[in-house]
Amino acid sequence: MLRNMVKIQVLPYFKKFEKNLNVEGLNRKYHGVDGEQSVARYPYFDRPSIMITNAYVESGIPLGDFNGRYQLKTMQAQAFVQDGERVSANNAFIQPIRYKRKNLTVRINSEVIKVLINKDKVAYGVKYVKDGIVHTAYAKKEVIVSGGSINSPKLLMLSGIGPKEHLSKLHIRVKSNLAVGENLQDHATFSGIVIALPNRTSTLISNEEIMKEVYEYKHMKIKNGPLASNGPTNSAAFIKTDPNLPAPDVQIQVRPANLKDALRETVPNDEIKIFPTAFYDAMLPLIIGLVPKSRGKLLLNPANPHGKPIIHANYFEDPRDLIPLVRGAKYILSLENTEAFRSNGATFVRTPMKACRDYEWGTDEYLVCLARSYTLTTYHYVGTCKMGPHTDRKAVVDNKLRVYGISNLRVIDSSIMPVVVRGNTNAPSNMIGERGVAFVIDHWSNKYH
Ligand SMILES: Cc1cc2nc3c(=O)[nH]c(=O)nc-3n(C[C@H](O)[C@H](O)[C@H](O)COP(=O)(O)OP(=O)(O)OC[C@H]3O[C@@H](n4cnc5c(N)ncnc54)[C@H](O)[C@@H]3O)c2cc1C
Repeated sequence: MLRNMVKIQVLPYFKKFEKNLNVEGLNRKYHGVDGEQSVARYPYFDRPSIMITNAYVESGIPLGDFNGRYQLKTMQAQAFVQDGERVSANNAFIQPIRYKRKNLTVRINSEVIKVLINKDKVAYGVKYVKDGIVHTAYAKKEVIVSGGSINSPKLLMLSGIGPKEHLSKLHIRVKSNLAVGENLQDHATFSGIVIALPNRTSTLISNEEIMKEVYEYKHMKIKNGPLASNGPTNSAAFIKTDPNLPAPDVQIQVRPANLKDALRETVPNDEIKIFPTAFYDAMLPLIIGLVPKSRGKLLLNPANPHGKPIIHANYFEDPRDLIPLVRGAKYILSLENTEAFRSNGATFVRTPMKACRDYEWGTDEYLVCLARSYTLTTYHYVGTCKMGPHTDRKAVVDNKLRVYGISNLRVIDSSIMPVVVRGNTNAPSNMIGERGVAFVIDHWSNKYH
């Protein structure tokens, strides 16, 4: 019932911005083709990526579109891509209209430092800093905060919207006492499982060959080849670690790596240098928990409220979050027995990582230790300006994304998600943008008619 309600309300707003360039074979009910944001497959898949997808399929995961009716699938993922290149939200939405629309002004290199709110608690503009000078911009109708899940709560708190106790300690006058910064969620994952590729499967090439690839790529009008791909990261899969679950609780992403660096002690995988990522001889499967129970919190930095906020991620505070990760990791380890792995000579490196040497490699205890010692973000943080009914103590915005207690102020970005979605957060953030815009247009057109 709830699933149907959600689908009816937001699916049109996903499709509205989607320009799917490889829609053949996909169900058009779930994909748009007329939007601004290009969605396509990368044009090039390397051998290890195909190996990973084949292994998933061999293990029983159906090949198909996990962005369609059923998520429990594997495929070479589509991404925000056109002609072999990533397409950012800036390139998709802003650049095409930047100098064409009279009602759009872009101030680059500017940071909003405060939402201006009058004594009647009506938002009427913002203060922002550009080149060290403070400017003011006034709103004719309303102010929309869209700084993302880290910066939107920071800006609200700097403007007096947030937990009373915290703001009072920082001598910020409280305009609306709300749980801003709480309910922080992310898809936590961990590093430390390493797949080694033999020469015949590795994509490593010499430095001279790499330079040749880079040169050729640079001069291609329509990009193709290894540099126009996302390597094994593209071979994504969603699994249920308990067959009784209604939907997948784990996503698996496999990142390319350099074997030598991957085995270096205490190096989180984000710091491993491979240049460029298309050329690698190891892979790091990331088991990503999609339904976290733990909640983090974001606070202003008391030493410098305008500086970087303090983030308490609180990953795995609820130990139940470790269960799907361990099960997902065991599933990944089982792929070593597939024909896909065997025929490519891919094997798991069985040397325990330093922090977990006390445990036997591959056991539950070892995997829990990896998760707790080599924890990683997937950068899918959401929820810090939670949408919810006024009865919800943690809610910051209502179901039209209006900030409680302040008029003419909305938050429209990933921070409003009450619960993190079971997948990557970029497309849902775009959807929130489209949905929010429709609320704004609806509100102001009804007001004058
Ligand atoms: C390294 C990385 C990799 C990722 N990879 C993926 C991926 O592969 N797939 C996926 O689905 N998701 C991915 N994500 C997550 C995805 O990017 C986010 O979920 C999404 O961008 C959130 O959108 P948003 O509009 O809420 O915030 P953002 O996209 O962060 O937009 C906020 C904007 O506001 C600006 N801003 C912030 N504060 C201020 C201020 N005070 N004044 C002026 N401007 C301000 C910022 O500069 C930024 O442009 C990744 C994130 C990161 C960091």
